[in-house]
Amino acid sequence: MIGLVDANNFYVSCERVFQPQLEGRPVGVMSNNDGCVIARSAELKALDIPMGTPAFKLEGLRQRGEIHLLSSNYELYGDMSARLAQLLRDACPEIAPYSIDEMFVYLEGLTAEQCEALGKQLRQRIRRHLGLPVCIGLATTHTLAKLANHLAKQDPHYEGVCLLNGQDHTTEAMLKRTPVGSVWGVGRRLAERLAIGGVNTAWDLRESDEKLLRKRFSVVLARTALELRGIPCLEMNALEQPRQRIMTSRSFGQMTGAFTEVHNALRRHAQRSAEKLREQRSLARAVMVFLKTNRHRRDQPQYFPQALIALPSPSDDTRVILDAVRQGLEQIHRPRYRFMKAGVMLLDLVDAEQYQLSLLHPPTRERHPFLMATVDQINQRMGQGTISFGMTDAPAAWQLRCAHRSDRFTTRWDELMKVGTHPGAVAAAEAKQKQKLKQNQKKHQQPLTSAKRVAQPRA
Ligand SMILES: [Mg+2]
Repeated sequence: MIGLVDANNFYVSCERVFQPQLEGRPVGVMSNNDGCVIARSAELKALDIPMGTPAFKLEGLRQRGEIHLLSSNYELYGDMSARLAQLLRDACPEIAPYSIDEMFVYLEGLTAEQCEALGKQLRQRIRRHLGLPVCIGLATTHTLAKLANHLAKQDPHYEGVCLLNGQDHTTEAMLKRTPVGSVWGVGRRLAERLAIGGVNTAWDLRESDEKLLRKRFSVVLARTALELRGIPCLEMNALEQPRQRIMTSRSFGQMTGAFTEVHNALRRHAQRSAEKLREQRSLARAVMVFLKTNRHRRDQPQYFPQALIALPSPSDDTRVILDAVRQGLEQIHRPRYRFMKAGVMLLDLVDAEQYQLSLLHPPTRERHPFLMATVDQINQRMGQGTISFGMTDAPAAWQLRCAHRSDRFTTRWDELMKVGTHPGAVAAAEAKQKQKLKQNQKKHQQPLTSAKRVAQPRA
């Protein structure tokens, strides 16, 4: 059985963990430089405020206290995502992160009832240990698990966990009311072509002749139809990338702990990801870097870190993405571990064309489109990697505008949550903390922030 664990309104939920007063309130998270809304709570959605609304248009509502707008705090979101992955890794034999807040878990040798029970347990544990609300979809295939998750989110009767066995009436009813374009891997354009042939719903696709689908469309679509019947035949990587994130990752030929080797692999992945990004005419707002040790090698220490770096402004420039990748790697790389896999994920994508039309945030990319287009052309004609980017110099720390950012509660010692009985006590504790921090810094002769990637903050 395959489960898809997906956090509800992830960015907003991360904020609410540390600011419970935001619970039940309309909350939005803004893009870098506080430009526009990129994540919304259910309450904000209910106010009909669309994704991408420029923040200045909401300034009135914000000042009157009717809505809450926060600057994005990618460090917090990235760390909460890593904690979610760790919790799932501890509970399930195998997991595969799919995006910052979506993770597949693979449950072998359990009955449907046991899977459902485990799903409920996991959901509770995630809520209690991390404070995050999630929904879990369970099914025998990736494609159905994704739909099951959707159903768990929409229908409160499932209490956050929905299992589709692929054969019952629930599955049938669900597939009949799901437009074919909402099926995983079926894009808008493909849906239009399918509609001509009378395939309008997920159910229609499931009932279509598989050989015909292969002949007229593609092997992947034929397999998707089989997956809808509950027959697993798609690997996660075979699926078309969703439009909101791009992932490139690969296992090393040989396990390695060397920074340069890991970095070289990541640089390749970053360049390939940037190419895919430009192919689909998107810009990315954030870059995630992740590393994995070999979990089958019980004799070796295990480490599955990830780091999330926000870009100064949405970009498809390979050089900008490479800079972010190096920053991320520097945060998480520890030479004593031997890594088996490394990957790059580009997140929070926006449509490049729409973005360029925006007068509010003119992109800082006047000259590079020609450079990037030329590089892409040469690589397409002469082969992947004919032209690649060398090492770049360390950039100055990016100064972002983030007037409303919450503290980075889980990754910065000086931003830990403060608890006290009266204001005086909190102030005293703060002063003490600062003093301790200074002492520590002197002791170790290095800023404490470089030690921030430990899994659990020590009290
Ligand atoms: Mg989500």
